[in-house]
Amino acid sequence: MNRSPLNGRRIRLGMVGGGEGAYIGGIHRFAARLDDQYELVAGAFDVDAERGHRFATQNYIAPERSYSDYATMAQFEAARADGIDVVAICTPNFTHFPIAKTFLEAGIDVICEKPLTTTLQDAEALAEVVSQTGRFLGVTYTYSGYPLIVEARARVQAGLIGKVRTVQVEYPLEWMATGVELKNNQQAAWRVDPQKNGRGGSIGDIGTHAYHLAGYVTGLKAESVAADLATFVEGRALDDNAHVLIRYEGGARGMLWSSQVAIGCSNALRLRVYGETGSLTWAQEQPNELIYTSLEGYTQIIKRGRDDLDAITRARTRTPPGHPEGYIEAFTNLYSGFAAALRARDEQRAISGIGALIPQIHDGLKGVAFVDAVVDSHQQGTVWKQPKYR
Ligand code: NAD
Repeated sequence: MNRSPLNGRRIRLGMVGGGEGAYIGGIHRFAARLDDQYELVAGAFDVDAERGHRFATQNYIAPERSYSDYATMAQFEAARADGIDVVAICTPNFTHFPIAKTFLEAGIDVICEKPLTTTLQDAEALAEVVSQTGRFLGVTYTYSGYPLIVEARARVQAGLIGKVRTVQVEYPLEWMATGVELKNNQQAAWRVDPQKNGRGGSIGDIGTHAYHLAGYVTGLKAESVAADLATFVEGRALDDNAHVLIRYEGGARGMLWSSQVAIGCSNALRLRVYGETGSLTWAQEQPNELIYTSLEGYTQIIKRGRDDLDAITRARTRTPPGHPEGYIEAFTNLYSGFAAALRARDEQRAISGIGALIPQIHDGLKGVAFVDAVVDSHQQGTVWKQPKYR
């Protein structure tokens, strides 16, 4: 593989999955375009090759770079002088491992959806491949891309709320409150199948987002977890609701709730962090505001877009306060962070700025280890379990 330097050009992106009727692939494409860092030039967009080729045509992909399967794509793209630099994996969880491994071994960097893999064994094997190949693997923990999440992180680190005592994080959704998987819902169908989703249901799908967010903002590492999982919709083999207690190193305590059956909750991810001298609250449905309350009893709304925010927060912001930014921009911040990291590596510079805070292989590994510990805890009677990686 002989690639021209990334300096002075867009990064060539390929995509696996994300075809017709798929959800997250479209968000990846928006995110890749918004800051103009990437061009999408190749793909194996669908498990159904015919549909994938149709989708490629509609998205102006050259016919010879629309592939019937990901293995052929990796082989041919690796052999082209103008082949893709990085591939985005936007497929169901059980396919992440073989697809990521194939591209990394072909010398192509990877942006992978969460959860990284369906088993801890696969996550460990993938970490080994990353280390052996020296390639980059970024994980799309979307919510760490929000500017005010970076701001919260910076303020916790600066000691604004003092030593953290408790972390309350919740990610409730309502879309699986009934058996939608039996009604041709493509997204739900594979999420209720342990072979395809992994051992954790809601905890793997969205609990991993919440877990990452809590650790990202506070810098705390989970020492042990105790979990109570429930399946409310009959016939499901996986949890659709999870409550998890977390003991963090250093004594802080956490509580995490993930649910796919919480009626009234569209995408109600919320994080509250309480320290010795204050607290911070952020909610995904009002992402342009971060609420700070001091021990003295005053409450301040910190607004995205202000000039006095942390430099990395400002680097992740595009419009002044009052012009809302949201989900697509947060996802873009991850993509632009990945681009910054890839360019830094290419130029043998240390990663800094927006590229420094991106989720990578170890974050993916920690997410899978968390799910494993949670499911073990529940199955053994809500006992305390140590995640293998933290
Ligand atoms: P989906 O079912 O909507 O789409 C999956 C796509 O992958 C489809 O186009 C399907 O044809 C394709 N596909 C499956 N196997 C393939 C293969 N072997 N080769 C090529 N294409 C293949 O799923 P989704 O809801 O978009 O979820 C996909 C992934 O994204 C999951 O891992 C999920 O956890 C993750 N996700 C992440 C976020 C986030 O916020 N980061 C949000 C939603 C989903």
